Amino acid sequence: MATHDDGDVNSGQTPETGITPGGTTGAFRDVLAKDHARRGKPPVHLVDMSPEERVAAAKAIGMPKFRVKQLANHYFAHFDADVESFTDFPSKLSATAQEAFFPELIHEVTHQSADEGTTIKTLWRLFDGAMIESVLMRYPGRTTLCISSQVGCGMGCPFCATGQLVLTRNMSTGEILEQVRIAAKTARDGGITGGPCRLSNVVFMGMGEPMGNYRSVISAVRQISAMPPEGFGISARNITVSTVGVVPGIRKLAQEGLPVRLAVSLHAPSDELRDELVPMNRRFNTTQVLDAAHDYYLATKRRVSIEYALMRGINDQAEHARLLAKRLNHYGDDWAHVNPIPLNPIEGSKWTASKPEDERQFLDILHHAGITATLRDTRGQDIDGACGQLSAKYRKTA
Ligand code: SF4
Repeated sequence: MATHDDGDVNSGQTPETGITPGGTTGAFRDVLAKDHARRGKPPVHLVDMSPEERVAAAKAIGMPKFRVKQLANHYFAHFDADVESFTDFPSKLSATAQEAFFPELIHEVTHQSADEGTTIKTLWRLFDGAMIESVLMRYPGRTTLCISSQVGCGMGCPFCATGQLVLTRNMSTGEILEQVRIAAKTARDGGITGGPCRLSNVVFMGMGEPMGNYRSVISAVRQISAMPPEGFGISARNITVSTVGVVPGIRKLAQEGLPVRLAVSLHAPSDELRDELVPMNRRFNTTQVLDAAHDYYLATKRRVSIEYALMRGINDQAEHARLLAKRLNHYGDDWAHVNPIPLNPIEGSKWTASKPEDERQFLDILHHAGITATLRDTRGQDIDGACGQLSAKYRKTA
């Protein structure tokens, strides 16, 4: 049985992916898609392999091992995975090397742009027909990519479009990193309004619960932050890993020695309310989640982001703001930054965005209590901006 702290959904006697650590023994289990267990594994990619596995794969196709580094350099330093176009690579080996190291893992289905071309949301099809999304956003001084780590999400939050898709499967490290490589290339080549730029930030806030796919996510984080030819060279300080509050995952991440930012999707200041909004709260309650988040701050010295989707009449009243401030101040000053986010509602849902005056009141109360808080802008409101919305719509119409 998967233990609470192994962080690996594939270990022990529970072979299927997608059982959140602790889920098999706790009160909450991932909500799995009907065809969840039938999913195969994606093709293995260079970034899925250990150094030894890369050498073995090279040997298997008769490729000298020094060429592995050459391939990795093309991939991480130049964002290229089309071996045939590599002028320094023997053409007689290119087809086999392509298949062995750079199989196509994600294929663009469609994309939408918004905010005058500074936001691009892409829907990708994976090898088994599953679909995921990523969003590239350009801001003054930085360009951020929001990526998915699971197909759907098993956390079942009733207000969330991705939650409605339930969990199909975990993504491989290769599938996660391909989103980053292609976005880095798009940014470099001027594919986003404002001219060529460097992808500077990566946030794991797309589809899925990153802690539910810990091993692939942490391998991706290491390869995003390592310098070429081991990684893309994006500072770990500019990577954000979000979680709905999977406490063993937070504790494990704190021990990785990586200064990544942790974002906790709290959405409610009390267990009573959070049990309803975030079913995972019945497994790890607000005290356990905030304790772990504060310990993360102590271990990494990185301020923790508290994400809070403001829902009209549900969690956006003065009493909620006051309780949230009290609970955060309980741990001391300046360790958390609250990001209230106006909810991007799903069509036909009873959960809807707060009134602007309630948003302002919520922020004012936090500020007066000494909590730093910024209303997060909702990029791409007009393009099914919340994670899972584009994918949900596509499934309906496809
Ligand atoms: S809010 Fe986050 S954790 Fe909850 S269902 Fe949506 S993607 Fe999953």
